[in-house]
Amino acid sequence: MRVTQLLIPTTKETPNDATLASHIYLIRAGFIQGVGSGLYNYLPLGKRVLDKVQNIVKEELNKADCQEVSLGFVTPASYWQESGRFDKYGKELLRFKDRKNNDFVLGPTHEEMMVNLVKQSVKSYKALPLNLYQVNLKFRDEIRPRFGLMRGREFLMKDGYSFHASKEDMQREFALMEATYKKIFTRLGLDFRVVEADSGAIGGSGSKEFMVLANSGEDTIVVCQECEYGANIEAAIRAEKSSDMEPPEALYAKFHTPDTTTIEALSAFFHVDPFYLIKTVAKKALFDKGESKIVLFALRGSDELQEVKACNSIDANELVDISAQELAQIGLVAGYMSPTLVPDGVEVVFDTLLKDASHLICGANEAEYHLVGIDLKGYEATYRDIVAVQEGDSCVHCGNKLHYTKGIEVGHIFQLGDRYSLPLGANFLNEQGKAQPFEMGTYGIGVSRLLAAIIEQHHDEKGCIWTKETTPFALSIIISNIKDEAQVTFAQEIYQKLTESGIEVLLDDRKERFGFKMKDFELIGTPLALIIGKNLADGFVELVQREGLSKESISVDDTLSRVMDQVCY
Ligand code: ATP
Ligand code: MG
Repeated sequence: MRVTQLLIPTTKETPNDATLASHIYLIRAGFIQGVGSGLYNYLPLGKRVLDKVQNIVKEELNKADCQEVSLGFVTPASYWQESGRFDKYGKELLRFKDRKNNDFVLGPTHEEMMVNLVKQSVKSYKALPLNLYQVNLKFRDEIRPRFGLMRGREFLMKDGYSFHASKEDMQREFALMEATYKKIFTRLGLDFRVVEADSGAIGGSGSKEFMVLANSGEDTIVVCQECEYGANIEAAIRAEKSSDMEPPEALYAKFHTPDTTTIEALSAFFHVDPFYLIKTVAKKALFDKGESKIVLFALRGSDELQEVKACNSIDANELVDISAQELAQIGLVAGYMSPTLVPDGVEVVFDTLLKDASHLICGANEAEYHLVGIDLKGYEATYRDIVAVQEGDSCVHCGNKLHYTKGIEVGHIFQLGDRYSLPLGANFLNEQGKAQPFEMGTYGIGVSRLLAAIIEQHHDEKGCIWTKETTPFALSIIISNIKDEAQVTFAQEIYQKLTESGIEVLLDDRKERFGFKMKDFELIGTPLALIIGKNLADGFVELVQREGLSKESISVDDTLSRVMDQVCY
C-alpha cells in the first residue's frame, strides 16, 4: 500500500502518561489511539498487526482441533450468580442494568457462558472431548489501567475452554495446549518461559503461565538457572531453608525489648539470626457478601509474606492492610504481636517452615516485650506455604540457586476440573449411562497485550522492530526524491512486482524529505526497507535492516531476488 493513501498519523509527541517503549511507540507510530483510560482504537497499522497475531493464534489452535465460536459480550448476571463469581470477582467486573432492571455484566472472561453453551448442546460422552475458543473483547474495570495495550480495561483475549469425560483426558488436552501455545509464541518471535502459576479467581488447580521475558514486565518470576523450573512468585516454591547460625538457646520467658518493632531491630537486640524470629503480619481478609476478618500470618523473620499465597491460604478474595489503631481496638499490639497469644476471633496461619520449629522469639502482644524460648513442636495450628521465594533460595528440584526475572503474562492455561460444571449443573451421560459433570480446562491468550509484549522485546531508541510474522508490512520502499522520475518509476516497478507475488509492501511515496521518511520507517519498524536514492543512476539501491539499521548497497538487477530472499521464509 502507498503511504499517501493510508492513515498513519505518526508524531514526535510522547503521550503524557506513557512510560513504556511499547506504549510510546504504538501511539507515536500511529498503531493505536487512546480513547479513555484503558480504552484504545486500533488504526490501520495496529489492526493489521492485531489480525496477524490473531491469525497465528487461530491457525495453531485449529491445527490442534480447537473450534472457533463467538459468544455474547454482554452476559446476564444470573450466569455469574449461579457460579458464585458475581460476588467474588470484585470491582473489576462491570455490572449494569437494562431498562427492565435486569442485571448484566460485561464479560471479563467467559467460563459461565461457555459452560452453558455446552450444557445446552452436549448430552453424551460420545460428543467429547471438545475444545471451543473465541477471540473476543473482554472488559475488566482494572484499578490501574496503564502501559497502553499492556493493561487495558477493554482488551482482546483468546479464551478457550475444553470439555472432557475424564480427568486424564483433560490433562492430555492441557499438555496439548501447552505445546500449542509454545508454537504460537515461537512463531510470534518471542523469548518466553512457561512457569507454574497461581490459579486466582478462576479457581481450579494446576495452571501455567506464558511469560514474555522483559524488564518492564509486571510479574516477578522465579527461575532456576540450572534446571527447567520456573514459577510466578505468587506460586513459586523452594527447597527447605535453614540457618548456619547458632539458635538462641533459652527457656520460655518474657523479655523487656524496648524499640524493637522491626525484625532488624529485634535481631540486633538479641544478636540473633532473623531466621529464629517470628514475623507476625496482620491483614484484613475480605470475603463474599462484604464479610471480613482479621488474620495473622506468622513466618520466619528472614522471610517475606507472599500476599497471593496468604490470600489463598484462607480462601479470601483479597487482603488489605490494617492500621495500628484498628489492631489496638481488638487487643493486638502492633510491632509486638504474637501468633500464639491471640484475641478470640482472630485467625492465625503459620508458614510451613515454622512447623515443629523451636528456639524461636516472637512478640508478647504487649508493648516493648517479646517472648523467648518459643517451641512449636507438636503445636496445633494451620500451616501453609505463605512465603515469597527469595533470590538465592534453593531450587526444590535440583538444589541450585533461584533467581528473579521479570515477565509479561501473555498466556495462562488452567486445569479446571468440575469447578464450573458442578455448580452450573453441566452434566453429560457417561459410558455407563450415568450423569457426570464435565471435566474442564481453560486457556487464555492476551491478544492485544501481545502487541505491547512484542514491542517491549523488540525495539530500540528509535522505534518498533516488528518480528517477521507480526510486521504490518514485510518491507518499506522509500523513494528518496519524489521529484526524480527514475526513482519513482523504479520504485513503482519493484512495488508492483512484489505486491503481485503476495508480498505486503509499504511504499513511501510522500512528498517529504528523505530524512523525515527514514524517521517514520524507524518508528514504524518494518523489518526491512529498500531505499531508492541517487545511486540509482549508477545502478544501485540500498537495503536496510531495521534491526541494527545496517545498510547494504545492492545492484538494481538483483533487487527483486534479494528482497524476495529476505522476506520469504
Ligand atoms: P494479570 O495478572 O496480568 O492481571 P490475569 O491473570 O488476570 O492477568 P487471565 O485471567 O489469566 O489474566 O487472562 C488471560 C490473559 O488475558 C492474560 O494472560 C493476559 O495476557 C490477558 N489480560 C488479562 N488482563 C488484561 C488486561 N487488563 N489488558 C490486556 N490483557 C489482559
Ligand atoms: Mg492469569
